[in-house]
Amino acid sequence: MHWADAIAQELAGKKHVIATGITPSGPIHIGNMREVITGDLIYRAIKDAGGDATLVYIADNLDPLRKRYPFLGKEYEKYVGMPLCDIPCPCGECENYAEHFLKPFLKSLEKLDIHPIIYRSDELYTHGKFDEVIKIAIQSTERIAKILKETSGRDVPEGWSPFMPKCPFCGKLTTTRVLDFSDMVEFECECGEEGKVGIREGKLVWRVDWPARWKVLNVTVEPFGKDHAAAGGSYDTGARISREIYGYEPPHPVVYEWITLKGKPMSSSKGVSVTVEDMLKVVPPDILRYMIVRVKPEKHIDFDPQITLLQLVDEFEELDRGSREYELSHVELQADIPFRHMITVVQIAKNDDQIFEVLERSGYKVDRSDKRQVEAVLSLASNAREWVKMYAPERMKFEVKERVDVKFDEKEREGLRRLAELFEKREMDAKEVHDSIYRVANEIGMKPSKLFEAIYKVFLGKKYGPRAGWFLVSLPRNFVIQRLKESQEGNNES
Ligand SMILES: [Zn+2]
Ligand SMILES: [Zn+2]
Repeated sequence: MHWADAIAQELAGKKHVIATGITPSGPIHIGNMREVITGDLIYRAIKDAGGDATLVYIADNLDPLRKRYPFLGKEYEKYVGMPLCDIPCPCGECENYAEHFLKPFLKSLEKLDIHPIIYRSDELYTHGKFDEVIKIAIQSTERIAKILKETSGRDVPEGWSPFMPKCPFCGKLTTTRVLDFSDMVEFECECGEEGKVGIREGKLVWRVDWPARWKVLNVTVEPFGKDHAAAGGSYDTGARISREIYGYEPPHPVVYEWITLKGKPMSSSKGVSVTVEDMLKVVPPDILRYMIVRVKPEKHIDFDPQITLLQLVDEFEELDRGSREYELSHVELQADIPFRHMITVVQIAKNDDQIFEVLERSGYKVDRSDKRQVEAVLSLASNAREWVKMYAPERMKFEVKERVDVKFDEKEREGLRRLAELFEKREMDAKEVHDSIYRVANEIGMKPSKLFEAIYKVFLGKKYGPRAGWFLVSLPRNFVIQRLKESQEGNNES
C-alpha cells in the first residue's frame, strides 16, 4: 500500500483539514515544497478513499523579518522586526515583501496541480479570526509559560507574553513588551514609545500561533519538517497548548525529512538552494511530484538535477500507468512523451513549430487543435531545453551538422549506403530503423557499434549521440536519405 493511502486509512471516518504553510521570508526552495506535496498526497489519498478533506496553505506573512539576509540590500536593516507583509518588496513590483516570494511559489503549485485554500496570516488576524484564541492566550500567559518551561526546559524571559503587539510608531513586532491587557493591549516598545493597541494589531508568538491556528482552522493533519518534531520542539509544545489551553485535539503529525541538494542541506540564506520555480523550469511537474511520491516522508531525499533527474525520469516512465505511484504523480497538464526523447527533439527542432513536426515523425502525433495538449508539450519541451542548457552532460548534447565533414572507410560507406536504400524503400518506425542498423552491420561483416559511430559522424560530426533509431526517424526522411548519400561522395578515401 502507498504510504499516503496508509495514512488515509489511519485517518478514515472523520472530516479532515490538512494544513501546510511557509514563512515567505526568502526564496522558497524545493525543500519547502516537500511539505505541500506531502499534504496534497494525503489529501488525494483521503479523497480517493471516499473521505472528506480540505487542503489549506497558510502563508505566514505576518512573521517578522528575523534579520537582513545576505540576499537583501543594506536598506533592509531597518525592516528587521517588522511583519513581512509590511515590508517593501525587493523588486519594487509586488504588493509587499512576502508576496514577492509567495507569488512564484503559488504559481508553481498550480503547475504541480496542487490547489489548496490559501490563507494569509495578516488577513486571518485583521479579519478577527484569531480574536478569541489571542484573548485566551493572553489570559493564559502563565499557564503557557509553564508548558513552555516543562517541554523545552527553559524559562521564558521576565515579562514574556504570547502576544507581540505591533508598535504603531516603529511598525515592529519584536521590540514590544506587553504591560497589561484588558480590552486593549498596553505595551512599551524599544523605540521609546508606549501605548495601547487592539488585539488585531499584533501576532501570537510562533509556538502559540501554531496550536491557535489548529483550532481556528480545524486542522486535523499537519505535515512538518523534522526540526519541529524534536522532543521539546514546537509540535510537542503545540500539542500541549492545544489540549490544555484551547481544549483542541492536536492534528495528526506527519514528519518529513529534508531534501538535500547534492548532499548539501538547502538553505536560502546560505545560497545553497534551488527555488521551486527554478526547478520547474527544468523538471516536469509530474517528475517533481514523483520524487516525493516514491519515498516515505521520513526518508531523506538527495537531489542532483543532473544525474538524479534522469534516473527519476527513467524510473517514472517505466511505471505501470495503472500504478498508484503513477496516479499520485499525475498532473493535469501532462504530455505523454518520454523526457529523454524530448531532450533529443529539442536539439533537432529549431523552433516550436518544428517540435511538433519532429514529434510527429518520431511517432508522437499531437492534436494541435487541443490547446491544453499543445501547452503541455511546449511546457515539456521548455523543460528539456532548459535541462540541456543547464545540466546535460556533454555526451547528451548534440547539434545536427550543416554538412558531412568526416572521412569514411569502405566498410562504413557500404553500411551507410545500404541504410540509405532502406530509407528510400519505405517509411520505418524507430524500432525498425534500430533493428535495420544491426542487420546491415551483420550483413556486411561490420561491428554494429562501428556502424552506429558512422551514423553519428554523418549527422552530428561525432562518434556518439542519442538512440539512433529514434534520432533518425525524428529527422525528415528525405534529409536522412540525402545525408546518408552524401557520405558516399567527396573527400572520403581513408
Ligand atoms: Zn517583488
Ligand atoms: Zn516601536
